Amino acid sequence: MRPCKPSRKNKDLTYKTFTDKQNKLQEKRFASIPFDKRLVFVPHCMRNTTFCAAEEKGSYYVCSECSGCEINKISKLVKKLNYQTLCILKGSRTIEKIIKEQKPKAIVGIACFFEGYQAFKTLEDKDVAVQFVPLKKDGCVNTNVDIWKAEEILRYEN
Ligand code: SF4
Repeated sequence: MRPCKPSRKNKDLTYKTFTDKQNKLQEKRFASIPFDKRLVFVPHCMRNTTFCAAEEKGSYYVCSECSGCEINKISKLVKKLNYQTLCILKGSRTIEKIIKEQKPKAIVGIACFFEGYQAFKTLEDKDVAVQFVPLKKDGCVNTNVDIWKAEEILRYEN
């Protein structure tokens, strides 16, 4: 008899358990990093592609704050707090390239549980503290996040 394949629900639970644990482990270190040494990564699937006027900057986009999606609020808060920058990722493969270029000490990553899990794995040998915010609605288009949760994490400081 063939073993059962893990269901999507079981996999998501595994990724959730892992990312929750990493968030807890890295929370204090993250909070000690000055805002201007922190980057924010958001996925391109959160953009409202009907209106989006984000500017392309090589491997990522920069939000033009057109109010077409929730990234607008995140971008405004990130600027107010003086974060290093907010990158709308074209794909998770660009994370390492951006880190090499911008050398942040901390990252807030908004993504689905699978991408969050992958990002923690990719960054485990880098000198960077990570906090992950899961998407409230995932998929490939029109995704969104719990904006209150995202704002709470963005504001973390000791
Ligand atoms: S708020 Fe930013 S990311 Fe969202 S649709 Fe407008 S320019 Fe694009």
